[in-house]
Amino acid sequence: MVVVGAGEAGAGAVTALREGGWTGPLVLIGSEDSLPYERPPLSKAFLVEEPPPGPRQILTSERLRELRVTTFFGRSALSIDRSRRTVKISGGANVPYERLLLATGASPRTLPPKYGSAQNVLTLRTHDDAVRLRAAIKPGSKTVVVGGGFIGLEVASSAVSRGASCVVLEAGPRLLTRAVPEVLARLIQGRHEEAGVQIVTSASITRIEERAEQTLIILDDARVFYADMVVVGIGAEPNVKLAEAAGLSVDNGIVVDETLTASDPNIFAAGDCCSFPHPLYERRLRLEAWRNARRQAITAAANMLGAHQIHDDIPWFWSDQYEETLQIAGICPDQPAVHRDLGPKGTVLFYLDHDSKLVAACGFGSLGVVAKEIRFSEILIARRLKLSPAALADPTMNIKSLLVG
Ligand SMILES: Cc1cc2nc3c(=O)[nH]c(=O)nc-3n(C[C@H](O)[C@H](O)[C@H](O)COP(=O)(O)OP(=O)(O)OC[C@H]3O[C@@H](n4cnc5c(N)ncnc54)[C@H](O)[C@@H]3O)c2cc1C
Repeated sequence: MVVVGAGEAGAGAVTALREGGWTGPLVLIGSEDSLPYERPPLSKAFLVEEPPPGPRQILTSERLRELRVTTFFGRSALSIDRSRRTVKISGGANVPYERLLLATGASPRTLPPKYGSAQNVLTLRTHDDAVRLRAAIKPGSKTVVVGGGFIGLEVASSAVSRGASCVVLEAGPRLLTRAVPEVLARLIQGRHEEAGVQIVTSASITRIEERAEQTLIILDDARVFYADMVVVGIGAEPNVKLAEAAGLSVDNGIVVDETLTASDPNIFAAGDCCSFPHPLYERRLRLEAWRNARRQAITAAANMLGAHQIHDDIPWFWSDQYEETLQIAGICPDQPAVHRDLGPKGTVLFYLDHDSKLVAACGFGSLGVVAKEIRFSEILIARRLKLSPAALADPTMNIKSLLVG
């Protein structure tokens, strides 16, 4: 068994393969020269805690030894020979496989070269990126974030919490356009503004340049922003080059079926790189979410060992900003929602289908309250129970009580 990509999904898969009973050779190939670590803290705790915490390792060297995993860290898989069933890796070796898992993740989108170049423009994906960013967001320093998505807003929250100033430049008319309903995006914007972040929506950048020690970001309406560090958080692209070159089917991610098998029955994919059909939403999804990577790794490992498990996990995502949390269960459709107003503790939105069954829920507010609402919403989505909008909207109703129907 060979796993390419030593991130969340790859590390989870080698563990699940051994725990699932695989006793033969097990190989983990990762282009980063480090043990697998978790990425979510990189835009949160790592930027604010004093002293900075070390990388939160998913697998230690001891655990890898215990699992009898042969590792190639700091080495990239360069090509796959599907007829010989080998993976060629940098440094020259050809690694044979019986089953192969591609867990290559995603890479941050960068700004087009027409905007110019400057030294202090960073994307945030790796621990090394976070080390550079942390060094720049000192008290009194100026950070400009390009992109009002999750990573950009978490960086903004971390920067102002450390006493840096921060401007968020968002090209769209509002924040978090891709995954978060407008009502919550407005609440989140308010929370950032209260903390002193300047949010500029419909911002169209024409140029980024360096002058003296500073980076200048110039908008088409001639506004100029000065920064010690510019962080670009405008989404990520799945890492599919390896799969594409091997002739696997690729369409916004490595195309897999409901068992996470790619267009070659000996190759599987999991995590941010994978486009999979979700039975509940009846369409393909590609999720860039921590729990999805973890859970898909477990399904893929089981199926590599011959099971035929369908991956129908309810998507779940969280983001922490200030002392608040944003959590989403399911995929929020573009339609009116039932609002549950929990006063200062937060707001939760519920989405029902034409049959009054819950398909998604999302909330923003205090962790204890929002986490509970979303946790029970996940169960309600999975159980396909019919629900009353009035009960969902009633803040005095305990959401757990709906589970009994
Ligand atoms: C800063 C940040 C904050 C985040 N915060 C949250 C959050 O709050 N909540 C949430 O749900 N999700 C969050 N995420 C997303 C979450 O971390 C990802 O969804 C998860 O890491 C995906 O795991 P993965 O294994 O698919 O990819 P990755 O963890 O990216 O791992 C892929 C690995 O494969 C390697 N690789 C790629 N190509 C090759 C190759 N050819 N050969 C060898 N190795 C290769 C890469 O170098 C990388 O190490 C965050 C992500 C980032 C970057």
